[in-house]
Amino acid sequence: MDIRRLDEADQTSGGLAGKTALVRVDFNLPRNEDGSISDDTRLRSALPTINYLREHGAAVILLSHFGRPTAGKSDPALSLAFVAGPLAEAIEAPVRFLTTPNINVLDDLGPGDVLIMENTRFLKGETENDPDLAKELAQFGDLFVMDAFSAAHRAHASSAGIADHLPTYAGLAMARELDHLAQALDHPEKPVMAIVGGAKVSSKIDLLENLVTKLDRLAIGGGMANTFLLAKGHDVGKSLAEPDLLGKATDILKAARKAGCEIILPVDAVCATEFKEGADTRVVAMTDAAKGNVKANEMILDVGPDTVTELMDAMDKSKTLIWNGPLGAFETPPFDTSTIEAAKYAARLTRAGKLIAVAGGGDTVAALNAADVVDDFTFVSTAGGAFLEWMEGKPLPGVDIVTKGQSA
Ligand code: ADP
Ligand code: MG
Repeated sequence: MDIRRLDEADQTSGGLAGKTALVRVDFNLPRNEDGSISDDTRLRSALPTINYLREHGAAVILLSHFGRPTAGKSDPALSLAFVAGPLAEAIEAPVRFLTTPNINVLDDLGPGDVLIMENTRFLKGETENDPDLAKELAQFGDLFVMDAFSAAHRAHASSAGIADHLPTYAGLAMARELDHLAQALDHPEKPVMAIVGGAKVSSKIDLLENLVTKLDRLAIGGGMANTFLLAKGHDVGKSLAEPDLLGKATDILKAARKAGCEIILPVDAVCATEFKEGADTRVVAMTDAAKGNVKANEMILDVGPDTVTELMDAMDKSKTLIWNGPLGAFETPPFDTSTIEAAKYAARLTRAGKLIAVAGGGDTVAALNAADVVDDFTFVSTAGGAFLEWMEGKPLPGVDIVTKGQSA
C-alpha cells in the first residue's frame, strides 16, 4: 500500500533523532478482575514502533483510549496508569505517566524517553474530533505516528485530528496490518474467496454487498445462512433467521450472479431441538432437491459435513481466503465442528504455501484460537470494528491520514 512509513520519517527533514513522536497506540487491554492484563497482544504489537523510535533517538509520547468513559470525563477506574509498569518491563526502560496534558513535560523529555498520556477519552472533544483538542495535542510532538489500526475506523482527535497539524506516518504494526489487508482484498492473488458466517445478515449486509463485487466465490455459513436458505424456499424451523430480510438476501444473490461471484450456501446442516452443549443432533440435507427437512421444533446450529467438504474444495481452487464469522455456534460443542475443521484445512493449505489466509472479527479470532490455527494463517486481524469496516469497503479515517495522496 502506498502509505507513509516510519523509515521515510527517518529519512526526511533531519531524521528522527532529537524529535518527539506522538504515537497513537491501542492500549485498550483486556484486564482480569485483580486489574492485571489478561491478554497483552495489543501491548506487544506496539513494541516494534516504540523500539524503532527509541533506537533512532526520538522521544515517545503514547496516546490511547481505554474503555468507554463518559466522553470528556475522568474516571479513575478507566485510567491508563496500569499500563506504565508492564510497558516499562517490556521495553526495559522507565515509562512515565502523565495525568493531564501539560506542555512543560517536554522540558525534561530526552531521546529514547517514553511517556504515556492518560486515557484520551477523558479529554473534552476527543470523540468529537474537536480541532482545538487536536491542535493542543499536536503541540506535544514533532510528528504523529498512527499505529492503532483497531482504532482507525473512528475519527477521533487522537486517532485522526492530530494529523491535520503534524507530519503523519504509519507505525510498524499499522503498516503490517495494511499490507496484509491490501494483499487480501485490494490486489489479491486470484481466485479469491471469502467465508462469511456469524449470527445475522443484518449486521453484515454492507460487507456482503461489497464482497460480491470483488470475489470469485463467497461461502455463507453460520446463522446468517439461514436467512438465505429461507429465501431459497427451505424451512429453518426455530433457527435464528431474519424473515424481514428475505428481499435483501435475494438481492445479494442476484448481485453476485451479475458480478460473476459464485455463492456457496450450506448443502447440509446440523440441527438440534435444544441449544446446549452435547445436545443430540441430526444432519439434514439442504440441497435444492431436498426441502422441508428441518422440523418445526429444530434449530440449525452448524453447517453439515458435506458443506465442509464443499468449502475445502473451494479452498483448494482458491489462492486467497478472507474469513469473517464462524460457520456455527462454535462456543457450544458439538456446534464448533465445521468451523474447526474448515479452519484447520485452511491452516494446512496455508502452511503448504498454497493459500493466503486472512481472517478477522472478534468471535472469528476466538474461533480460530479454539482451532489453534492463528499462527498458521497468513494474518489474523484483532481489530474487530475496523476490520469489518475495511471488509465493507469503507474509507477509514485513521488509514486515510497515512495514505499518500490523501490529506494529512
Ligand atoms: P465476528 O465477531 O467474528 O464478526 P459475529 O459476531 O458476526 O462474528 O458472529 C459470531 C456469532 O455467531 C457467534 O457467537 C456464534 O455463536 C453465532 N452463530 C454462528 N452460527 C450460528 C447459528 N447457526 N445459530 C446461532 N448462532 C450462530
Ligand atoms: Mg462478534
